[in-house]
Amino acid sequence: MSLPPFGALGRVATGDGEHSCRFVDGVVELLDRPAWEHGVSLIGKAPLAGVTLLAPVVPGKIVAVGFNYRAHAAELSVAVHAEPVLFLKPPSAVIGPGQAIVRPARSTQVDYEAELVVVVGRRCKDITPAEAADYVAGYTCGNDVTARDLQKLDGQWTRAKSFDTFCPLGPWIVLEAPSPEARVSARLDGIEVQHGLVGDMIVSPLELLAFASGVMTLEPGDVIMTGTPPGVGPLAAGQTVTVAVEGVGELTNPVV
Ligand code: MG
Repeated sequence: MSLPPFGALGRVATGDGEHSCRFVDGVVELLDRPAWEHGVSLIGKAPLAGVTLLAPVVPGKIVAVGFNYRAHAAELSVAVHAEPVLFLKPPSAVIGPGQAIVRPARSTQVDYEAELVVVVGRRCKDITPAEAADYVAGYTCGNDVTARDLQKLDGQWTRAKSFDTFCPLGPWIVLEAPSPEARVSARLDGIEVQHGLVGDMIVSPLELLAFASGVMTLEPGDVIMTGTPPGVGPLAAGQTVTVAVEGVGELTNPVV
């Protein structure tokens, strides 16, 4: 695993519990609350080698978008909608780096979806795209794991997107937005299976944040999953899937 960029944010487990943190070289600064909240205090330090990385945020809401890359809509034979198609995943689906994605017995096709994730840093409602950057805590990687057969069977997406372990997030949060040229990709057992560019999105991350805030009040720690590039495909037990976003990090999870 690569090292966290200087100043990246996250959550770790130490010998005495789970903590929000900031990564500073090989040291983990333990914080009493997420760094984007008010009145944050440093409560200790730990060596990076001595902690376990957790999902870097505990989201209240996970807002996701369908079909935000034209080539992915095409591979599923779906017309691009005039407005973003939002859906929600439950916070109970979140797992961290290294934790196992569990394929439910009820599904015969569980797909990976590599995605760039925006972490909300301040409460917002009805903001404009021009204002949106002021409300972002940072960016991380996510895997919008989907039971594709159940998605088609149900005609809506709640069950297909909501199984426990279907929302890997991590490994940390970077403060700087990835450039439009940054690659969003997935590797299955080390072989690239999916890729696109941040700039290929139909609706940009900040436009999505503003759009979602026009629907619901977004709170600090909520996350926006920005959609997946073409190349989605199934996960089999025993495989390992990595979501990589250039300039952000790499999120690897085994499948059982
Ligand atoms: Mg998705």
